[in-house]
Amino acid sequence: MPPSKKSPIQSSKKGVIFDRIDPRVYNNTKLMLYCEQCSHFDETHTFCTIGYDASKHTQAVTTHNYNLMGRIAVCRFMEID
Ligand code: SF4
Repeated sequence: MPPSKKSPIQSSKKGVIFDRIDPRVYNNTKLMLYCEQCSHFDETHTFCTIGYDASKHTQAVTTHNYNLMGRIAVCRFMEID
């Protein structure tokens, strides 16, 4: 499905919230955190079908943020089948 022509959902003025995550949990648990695992993610076109900015929650970006800060940005709208 191609991206909607409607304007995207505006993000909070506070910016992205990065949550601290325990390294033991992050490294030893199969977590459902990434857009690639979400029902709303269109893998063909790599975008969020409900209009959020998927670039902040992909596996590559989340792993990068974790390695950089020990914190990750969790999407509050993730839906897993
Ligand atoms: S709802 Fe959140 S986790 Fe799911 S595709 Fe959209 S941005 Fe990614």
